[in-house]
Amino acid sequence: MRRSLVMGNWKLNGSRSDSLALANTIVAGLKEGDQGIAVCVPYVYLSDVHNAIKDTPLALGSQNIADQESGAYTGEISATMLKECGCTYALVGHSERRSYYGDTDQSVATRFCQAQKGGVTPVLCIGETLEERESDTTFAVIDKQLGAVIDMAGIDALANSVIAYEPVWAIGTGKTATDEQAQEVHKYIREQIAAKSQVVADKIQILYGGSVKPENAKAIFAMPDIDGGLIGGASLDAASFLTIYQST
Ligand code: PEP
Repeated sequence: MRRSLVMGNWKLNGSRSDSLALANTIVAGLKEGDQGIAVCVPYVYLSDVHNAIKDTPLALGSQNIADQESGAYTGEISATMLKECGCTYALVGHSERRSYYGDTDQSVATRFCQAQKGGVTPVLCIGETLEERESDTTFAVIDKQLGAVIDMAGIDALANSVIAYEPVWAIGTGKTATDEQAQEVHKYIREQIAAKSQVVADKIQILYGGSVKPENAKAIFAMPDIDGGLIGGASLDAASFLTIYQST
């Protein structure tokens, strides 16, 4: 039985005081013993939020991570630095990083490896664009994005990671994949992993992301291969995010 996980992605939003208020309000809505809930916070607020949540069930993640360990890479933040700021998780290959900032399958795989090397759990984001879905290449895109990481890190490395399937056409658009569309791809991802290691396939948490809201979360999370969600817009409202978490 896999545990569920709900992660918020705050993206480029909020001030320090907004971030602390949001984190504190989420924590206030959690009970002792709750687990499987995390927020991915802008880099500059990681330490502040970490100090506020460190003895609570709410875990911390970053929204990106360097593909290098250290050195002359201006503007980058390493796994060791993120670990020091209290991060348990790091998103790697979010579609916004792939489409606006030039992340490639190779650089995403390198980030994945760097995260693990530094003791941070990578959350590998994969998913197809609308054009790719309409041209029936969804599974080929998944194969390519997932394959790059498996080739570089090895299948066993996936046991200590999380996958987020996020159809690009559903991110921030208000369009959600139907429960069946999402399940179909989640099942496919798990089957591809199972072909290499059944143990890893049974263990890995595969989250769905793309316009998840309090109204649709329960039905999505009820699907057998969906282990929780990566939540953008709705994670900026504590009540909505908590309702989504409680839908797992
Ligand atoms: C995301 O940014 O990963 C995401 C899923 O965003 P939204 O929930 O706003 O679609």
